[in-house]
Amino acid sequence: MDFISLGRANDIGASCHYLEVSGSGVILDAGADPNEEGPASLPDFSPIEHRNVEHVFITHAHHDHIGGIPALNAKWPRARLHLTPATRTLTTLMLYASARLQRRKYDEGSSAFRALFDEGDLEDVFDVLHAREYDEWIDLRGEHLRAKFYYSGHLLGSAGVLLTTADQRRICYTSDTRTEAQTIIPGAKYPSAPIDVLIMESTLGADPIAETITRAEEEVRFSQRLAAVLDRGGTVLLPVFMLGRAQEILALLGRFKMQNLIDPATPIYTAGGLREVSRIYDDYRFSSPRIDPDFEVYSVEQKRFPWTRKARNRVMNQPGIHVLTSGMMIERTLSHQVAVDLLEHEKHAIFFVGFSKDDLPAGKLLHAAQSGAEGILLNPDRGMQPIGCEVDRFRFSGHAHRQELTELAAKLQPTTIILVHGETEAKRWLKENLQEHCPEARILTPAQGERITV
Ligand SMILES: [Zn+2]
Ligand SMILES: [Zn+2]
Repeated sequence: MDFISLGRANDIGASCHYLEVSGSGVILDAGADPNEEGPASLPDFSPIEHRNVEHVFITHAHHDHIGGIPALNAKWPRARLHLTPATRTLTTLMLYASARLQRRKYDEGSSAFRALFDEGDLEDVFDVLHAREYDEWIDLRGEHLRAKFYYSGHLLGSAGVLLTTADQRRICYTSDTRTEAQTIIPGAKYPSAPIDVLIMESTLGADPIAETITRAEEEVRFSQRLAAVLDRGGTVLLPVFMLGRAQEILALLGRFKMQNLIDPATPIYTAGGLREVSRIYDDYRFSSPRIDPDFEVYSVEQKRFPWTRKARNRVMNQPGIHVLTSGMMIERTLSHQVAVDLLEHEKHAIFFVGFSKDDLPAGKLLHAAQSGAEGILLNPDRGMQPIGCEVDRFRFSGHAHRQELTELAAKLQPTTIILVHGETEAKRWLKENLQEHCPEARILTPAQGERITV
């Protein structure tokens, strides 16, 4: 089997991996790098320019796994794209939203790049999407190569891929995964051991803290901090990713209200695309893995975040919780605007509930607050602002922490492990520690475009 990573290999960037196995060309995910714009955000397909791609497996609808689909479709229009039904619905929504956003950014001059695709290109993509249920075997090349999705515990519709060859070799791609349950969705259900080749994510490989915190303890701390801010009349901003983290956090807030851990009358404000995603979560509640299929995200009462300045000032003068995108507080998003408004006032709080890169506003603000910096520049029009409000981070990740990953690998007994989707330091830690857990395994960290044969 040949393996080539096509996304930047020393970063989380665009997830996209090519396999040549049993004579078939297979691609695992076709993401785009959310931190780049234009062609630089796409996977580099040049190492496989002259190869054939027959099948593509899309594991979940996050941008770093789907944003490169139109570019891939343009190069290999006959390749069949397999994905779970929920991922198909979410991917459609997310790609349309991405096309609109790219066009708007170019038109208003905030991006130098024309949109990489438009609605017309997406029509072509939708023709080659094939919805596949979990554990449904797909014949890729008759008896010679079969594949199936299994449930990966990351978010609605998320899946890992298991491929089996005619000579009974088993290849497993974890994609983004969590083995522990979250609030709405249960933990992953892995195929049985042994696996021959394990292609594993590394997102939290360099995070020594995640594994020391239990979810139950973190929930208690989160509810207490929320209650304290609301009791003093403050507003809490929770910057979230629109897909996954937003719905999990809304479910958690609903539970806190039911248990009277926070005042049940506290208004919760949401806006934009995350509301549409919540509806899709609810639509699939009986047909996708759930902890409680009866739970609906919309059973947690939500008000629309107000658009006028006057109305915004009014709601920020009362206790309330704002669940707004983007998670990393990218400039001009709602979470960024509200953060600028709340930042200077002691009674308010900005609580991060997901991952942020250090060089984006969420990461910068967290770092500045933790290091006791006097102020921060979030918006050049406002200038340097003192950090008066409470700033904290709570860990409710949809990714396995690094001990979880090493335990998972040990259970699957692979002979080869290929580490992907993580920064260099994360892969370095995992490689060292996996060697102890899996002493027989060969552990590889291929560079972008590097062909390895296993
Ligand atoms: Zn993801
Ligand atoms: Zn990812």
